[in-house]
This record gives sequence, structure tokens and C-alpha cells, in this order.
Amino acid sequence: MPLIEVRNLTKAYGDVAALADVTLSIEKGEWIAIMGPSGSGKTTLVNMLGALDRPTSGRVVFDGRDISTLSSADLAVFRRENIGLVFQQFHLVPYLTALENVMLAQYLHSMADEEEARKALASVGLGERLRHLPSQLSGGEQQRVCVARALINHPKLILADEPTGNLDEANAALVLGLFMKLHNAGHTIIMVTHSPDVGRLANRRFELRHGHVRAEVRSSKEEEELFEDVLQQLWERQEAGADANACADTPNLLENRSLLMAMQQKGLVVADNGGFALSRQGVDHARDVIRRHRLAERLFQDTFEIRSNEQIESNACVLEHVLSPEVTNSICKFLGHPKECPHKRPIPGGECCERSGKFPKVNNM
Ligand code: ADP
Ligand code: MG
Repeated sequence: MPLIEVRNLTKAYGDVAALADVTLSIEKGEWIAIMGPSGSGKTTLVNMLGALDRPTSGRVVFDGRDISTLSSADLAVFRRENIGLVFQQFHLVPYLTALENVMLAQYLHSMADEEEARKALASVGLGERLRHLPSQLSGGEQQRVCVARALINHPKLILADEPTGNLDEANAALVLGLFMKLHNAGHTIIMVTHSPDVGRLANRRFELRHGHVRAEVRSSKEEEELFEDVLQQLWERQEAGADANACADTPNLLENRSLLMAMQQKGLVVADNGGFALSRQGVDHARDVIRRHRLAERLFQDTFEIRSNEQIESNACVLEHVLSPEVTNSICKFLGHPKECPHKRPIPGGECCERSGKFPKVNNM
């Protein structure tokens, strides 16, 4: 069941349809970016998803519950229990310290608990700024207080409307780093943003135009490459003691739950001990990727005489995605069926080698 299901959602202000017949669904653990020009309906959509307002027609089902027909009072309760809100403007109380601002929000939810408020501020990197007033904090620090405040009710959804809109680049990066940490911890995030760079951090992007939504998903080619990078990282993790050989330009994808969940649906990985491990099908696919990658490394080192480890890596990371099975086998033959990559890790054999590939043990199968 998706966390949020929106069906034929329309919001009219007089003659203006701020949202027109929007249908979409959002899974638990996803990071969604909502993009589009000014006036296209982004804030209106966020208001409906965050139980801040009711639609003119259509439905919003949140965690199995239809919230489109709740009274204003019930919407407020629902919002308090389920949604964490972060805005472009910080809305901190100016004469209260960081700690007191968080505790005020706790108080409005349930009971103020100073120890928990301290922990919340420490988790956003502000453990040393508890007694500072908003005016004594940078914009980025104030926004991090807002994130800590948004998390105190353990919300099922974090809704952020242009959270980096008022920040300089360095502070924006810190705040985005914080959202990445929350996403890795399994939080569902919906973020309105103008910035394509910020949008790219999301798993999916929705582009609004005149109240209509256009889903902008990864191309299947991009997705396939990401899957292969994950397979490679899982293989290397399962291969004893291997970690130094990961693609230099690839972040640690094994932390990305929604990506792994998409791969689970395709049967490439299985849930394992709170994490994920290669399925049988995943092992086969990963062996191919590893073989392509390590043969590409040998090619760049032995034949093209590239000596820089970094260059070998980054070239191999690109080439591995474009080698067909035939070309891979002919490279293997050309190189004399090498058994090890430049880092002395085994190259799994192919049809051309008359030896079977060594591959790591698969857990839980
Ligand atoms: P965005 O956040 O993408 O800039 P909004 O959702 O704020 O866009 O607005 C979408 C459209 O709805 C705009 O044409 C805006 O003028 C109109 N609108 C938004 N809120 C109201 C309101 N409370 N009353 C009348 N019109 C509104
Ligand atoms: Mg807006």
C-alpha cells in the first residue's frame, strides 16, 4: 500500500484551478521533488498532501485513511500526528533559544522533554548551539533547528516547501545533507524546489504546469545503470575484505533504501537482516557487471597503459555499462582470459573462458 494516494485532485480558487485532476502515488521511504514555475500549484499540492487544506474535489488517502473530507479541526490533529513541516521562512520564535523553540513544539504536541529536545538538536549538528537565539544563528543553523522541530512527533511524512530557498550554497548543502541522512534512515520526504540540482537528489520528480502534474521519472537506461552500480557494491561487500575497489565517482548506494526496494521488486535483491543481499538472479547479474568492470580495468591498464588508479576506475565505471556480452567476451579473449583485475581481485569467468566464475556466498538463500 502506498503511503499517499492522490486521485483526481482538484483545487479551485474561484475560476482559477490551482490544481487540476492530479493523480499520483507515493511509497513509504521515497524522496519526491515537486518542481515547476511560480504559480504552477506546488504550494497548493503540498497543502493538500500535508493536511493543511482540503481539495475542491478528488481524494487524498494517507496511510489508508481518506483525509480529503476531514473537518478543519480533524485535519489539524491529523497533521500534528503525521506530518513534519519545514518552510522556506524559518518561523522560529525570536526571543526563545534553539532548545526552547524545539521544546515549545514538543509542548504543543504532547509533553516537553528537555533531554529529547537536546538529542534532536544534536542529531542536526547543533548540540553546541542549544542556548543561542535565532538571531545568533546562521540561516542554515536556523533551518536545522526547524528540521529538528519538524521531527519531534516522529512524522510519517516530512514536507518541505523550498527549504533551501533562503540559504547560501554552503548552508543549503548542510541542510540537504541532513535531508539525505533522514532519507537514508527511512523517512518519506516531499520537497518543493526550484533547483534542478536539489531535484536530482530525489528518487522521483513531479513537474507541475498550470495545475497539471507530469511525472518525471528516471529513464530506464539511467535506472539500469544505477541498479548495476548497486549490484556491484553488494558483490564487493560480499567479497571478503573488499571495499577499496568501489567506483570512485559513485556514492555508497547501499544506504539508499528506496533504490534497493525497487530492485527487490525486480527480484535482484532480497531483504536480509534489516538490509539487503543479492538474490540468485542478482548474483548472476552482479557477476556480469563485475566481470565487465574488471575486464575494463585490465583493458585500460594493460592495453591503453593508463597508470592512474583513479582514471582506470572512472573509465571502467563508464565502460562497464555499455559492453555487450559479445564485446565483453572478445575483450576477455584479447586480454588472454585474465584471472585478476589490477587490484588482484578475481575476474569471474565467462562463456569464453571455460572456467566458472568465483562468486561470493549468497546469504539467506
Ligand atoms: P506555486 O507554489 O507553484 O508558486 P501556488 O500553489 O501558490 O503556486 O498557486 C497556484 C495558483 O493558485 C496561482 O495562480 C495562485 O495565484 C492561485 N492561488 C493560490 N492560493 C490562492 C488563494 N488562497 N486564493 C486565490 N488564489 C490562490
Ligand atoms: Mg509556492
